[in-house]
Amino acid sequence: MPTPARQQYLQIKSQYPDAILLYQVGDFYETFDEDAHIASRELQIVLTSRAYGEQERVPLAGIPLHALENYVGKLVQRGYKVAVCDQVGEVGKGVVERAVTRILTAGTLSEPNLLPARQNNYLIAITGGRAQTGLAAVDVSTGEFTVTWFTSDEMPVALEAEVQRLSPVECLLVEGANKEAYQFLAKTVTITHCPPYFFEQEAAQNRLCRHFGVQSLEAYGCAQAPRAIAAAGAIIGYLEKMNQALLSLLTGLRSYRTTSYMVLDAHTQRNLELLQGTRSGIVHGSLLSVLDRTITPMGARQLRKTITQPLLDLSQLEARLTGVEELYESPALRSRFSMSLQAFGDLERIAGRVRQGTAVRNEVVGLRDYLGLIPQLRELLLGCEARLLRELAEQLDPCPDVAELIGRALMRAGEEDEHGDDGRLIRPGFHAELDELFASIRGSRHWMLTLEARERERTGIKSLKVGFNKVVGYYIEVSKANMKLVPSDYMRKQTLVNAERFITPELKEHEARILSANERIEEVEKSVYVDVLRQLGVFYEQLMATAKAVAWVDVLLSLSEVAAHQGYVRPVVGHGRGLEIVGGRHPVVEYALDGDVFIPNDTMLDAEAGTRVLLLTGPNMAGKSTYLRQVALITLMAQIGSFVPARKVVLGLVDRIFTRVGAEDDIASGKSTFMVEMEETATILHHATHHSLIILDEIGRGTSTYDGLAIARAVVEHLHHTTGARTLFATHYHELSEMAEELPHLNVYTMAISDDEQGGIVFLHRVTPGSIGRSYGVHVAKLAGMPPGIVRRAEEVLQQLEQVTHSRELQTALVARESAISTMAPQKRNGRKIAERPERYAWQSEEAQYVAAMLEQG
Ligand code: ADP
Repeated sequence: MPTPARQQYLQIKSQYPDAILLYQVGDFYETFDEDAHIASRELQIVLTSRAYGEQERVPLAGIPLHALENYVGKLVQRGYKVAVCDQVGEVGKGVVERAVTRILTAGTLSEPNLLPARQNNYLIAITGGRAQTGLAAVDVSTGEFTVTWFTSDEMPVALEAEVQRLSPVECLLVEGANKEAYQFLAKTVTITHCPPYFFEQEAAQNRLCRHFGVQSLEAYGCAQAPRAIAAAGAIIGYLEKMNQALLSLLTGLRSYRTTSYMVLDAHTQRNLELLQGTRSGIVHGSLLSVLDRTITPMGARQLRKTITQPLLDLSQLEARLTGVEELYESPALRSRFSMSLQAFGDLERIAGRVRQGTAVRNEVVGLRDYLGLIPQLRELLLGCEARLLRELAEQLDPCPDVAELIGRALMRAGEEDEHGDDGRLIRPGFHAELDELFASIRGSRHWMLTLEARERERTGIKSLKVGFNKVVGYYIEVSKANMKLVPSDYMRKQTLVNAERFITPELKEHEARILSANERIEEVEKSVYVDVLRQLGVFYEQLMATAKAVAWVDVLLSLSEVAAHQGYVRPVVGHGRGLEIVGGRHPVVEYALDGDVFIPNDTMLDAEAGTRVLLLTGPNMAGKSTYLRQVALITLMAQIGSFVPARKVVLGLVDRIFTRVGAEDDIASGKSTFMVEMEETATILHHATHHSLIILDEIGRGTSTYDGLAIARAVVEHLHHTTGARTLFATHYHELSEMAEELPHLNVYTMAISDDEQGGIVFLHRVTPGSIGRSYGVHVAKLAGMPPGIVRRAEEVLQQLEQVTHSRELQTALVARESAISTMAPQKRNGRKIAERPERYAWQSEEAQYVAAMLEQG
């Protein structure tokens, strides 16, 4: 029979079989049994054991209460779920009552120290129906709660794109959800399965209405989207179960459609390296790394979101551009804004912690300091002309009541009150009982502080010390050598190797007074503090709105700083289907070149009346991909309201950017490069509209030359005739350039190359009209440092191959010629004639032209 204490543990643990249970025992959180093994392994803490009754010894590993955050963070980041079980009853009367107060997972963490400051931490829920799929997302550290939905037409591409954009840490799915359908979730996402009633529409709707205290969800914009409601309701249900305190952060729900922003599918987000350089997997080398000069954490988070949600609304876009322009034009203004933002901390996350009641003193005091900066920032904004900047000023609320209350209630850490006491949390004058308590012990404290000096004087023992420990309490310490000087009223309490510790009746009396008052002070301070947080929590929404406005100022400032330093210009954006770029540069490659010259290039597309498809040929390494991505990035930057790396840009709004770039083998799903390539291309052909921008780099590379050529050609023809989108198509199949003669809206360009003296080649990185008709593959191999022997051999093989093809082509041509001649009128049986006017003959073909050339040469 287990002891009562052990029984209590087992009973609680049985309710959380899938979590690591941290179980408060006095000043420690203990883990037992299997949990102890995991905790000791993952946290590198000592594994011991404890006896329960006579029979049982149980494995045990513990962490101190104060270190909870740190350890929990580690466990959660490694994908564990952690249940925190606190002592909630009175200590000392049998087994203390305990209860699980919160469960932590990757998506429900809100402690700023455990989260990356410049990035959101999203928990999402996905629920699919036949006609609709819902996706809800919450960041409990900032209170952001959003929901969207997708029609069956949009699935699964739009869902994957949105999940990629959010890059969540945890995802809720219904129990038994089809694993295959969610393979696109990154390996790092914690997947949590919830029972079906979480996602049941009516229950979800009731949960949401109850949470927001409303009758219907009309005002939240998702009343007509049943799956969206189900997803959002599941989140509420989950948070209710995990940690009630988090619910108070969700004061609103924002519905949106991904179609209100420029659509960037998951491949495109990766291909364009918007938030991460794919090569390194880190922010370095991404568009974000170039554009991010934000100063505050909430500004950094907002910029991330902004980059992946380019606008489709012209007036909103103009407002941003005008805001950026005003800052761009005045370095003095920029530096004033930047000074003002320097002092801000994470207003957004602190406001959330105040609302939850978990903010610590330094955060709250910090909040007051940040609010103190608001009036100055407001002044700066009101002095501007741009509409957006003035609007942001209106949204900044210095929340004087918040600042006043904090100032009146709390002492800074280490700050002394008027009596020189630096240990107070609550400011004198705020709470009468506290003031009385402090007054009541002031005399005793003073007595204690001056005791050492007095006793040294009285006894003549210079080394006499007054100290405190938990066993003896306050004591007077005298070294063995001075024992003869000890007065008669000293009572021996503890013996050390070289000293004795004493107490006196008077000392005991003062000590008792101080200790009992201190205990009470701690209790009262705690409850007063909680109450202050509660009062501050009422201002949560104003604080969040203010934080959001600060974040936007930071984003606009960052964009203007980059524009000024990198020499960007304001793009002209309109409704047409054109794209004119003069002197365009790739923002990231240019940045990385750092000193080396980046060669600017022009782009001229007009899907209505001019060039629809720009076909770019050229050998590998000539700069084709760079050019293609540069066009896509300039477009995207223009539509987030950023200035662009070019001398001039005139752009008709783009609804979606599609990219098919490079060969990305999807090893995990067992798909070949070619399969992935074809799937991506198919998606583009299905979803592109008149207003899209399509970037295709090397289609058909993963298969044989003829297949590849054939597919590439068919795709380009379709894009040219039917899709009508602005398209850039790069290929090393120079054969494709012949299409230009048949497709009026297609223009051929090539990456210019010049030969150097040693018979090698030099890439000029300049886009020029026409085609060079060679691949230069062997040259590139040489540049890449292939051993000279191999390069020479490759050149030989190439020559042989060319000769073989040559003689084969000649043969075919001759046969063709014979048959053509035999069907022709006698007077025209003459090779020359055929050569001159091949188009006249039914079998006109490349062969005919070839024959002509051959014959020409004899
Ligand atoms: P491709 O796609 O033709 O194989 P890339 O676009 O990958 O070639 O370019 C190869 C390299 O050439 C890039 O890594 C970059 O350093 C350099 N490069 C490309 N375009 C330019 C440019 N316009 N100016 C300067 N360097 C460039």
